[in-house]
Amino acid sequence: MANTPPWVLGLTGGIGSGKSSASKFFSELGIEVVDADRVARQVVEPGSPALIAITKRHGEGILGSDGSLDRAKLRKIIFNDDKEKRWLNNLLHPQIRTEMLTQLANAQSPYVILEAPLLFENGLEKYCQRTLLIDVQLELQLTRTCERDKLTLEAAKAIVAAQMSRSNKVKKADDIISNSGTLSALKTKVQRYHYSY
Ligand code: ADP
Repeated sequence: MANTPPWVLGLTGGIGSGKSSASKFFSELGIEVVDADRVARQVVEPGSPALIAITKRHGEGILGSDGSLDRAKLRKIIFNDDKEKRWLNNLLHPQIRTEMLTQLANAQSPYVILEAPLLFENGLEKYCQRTLLIDVQLELQLTRTCERDKLTLEAAKAIVAAQMSRSNKVKKADDIISNSGTLSALKTKVQRYHYSY
């Protein structure tokens, strides 16, 4: 079945910038969203080839009582062990990419969104025709993140520091929405871009 490849919009922004809120507004307009973080969790669901391989390598102790992957335990293993980290990345990255591209190709809406906090960090913009950055100043980003995730200011700052700087993302993005206003202002901006896409 020869499908025309879909037109893909890469949607990104740092933690707490308002990506999920923007993507919810796009999906209310009928646009399908592929969430890169969700795909990364899907490929290690119970019964998946990847989780079977991980269990073979690290033993049943890597599973929680419900049979799902104990991510914290796996993170601890790879944190100080480059060899294990490489092994895991070699296993998961191709599967994540294949699953992501399959979901994008199966989308039925006029265009499709690839939502990824690390879109630029992971070079995912190569799968996108255009990219849209949700941008917000640091103070608001930290306040919203702390409130949503019940984090301390220090913890939120550390997450932000590990992501690509705001100015580099601004340089890379084709389109930028500033999310410093209300949620309804964000919705209006999303609608405007939607019609231009
Ligand atoms: P991200 O997906 O980029 O991490 P979210 O869309 O989850 O960000 O937004 C982070 C938090 O800030 C959420 O609790 C969200 O409801 C809130 N938020 C997002 N945009 C606004 C806004 N314009 N005004 C007020 N709160 C907002």
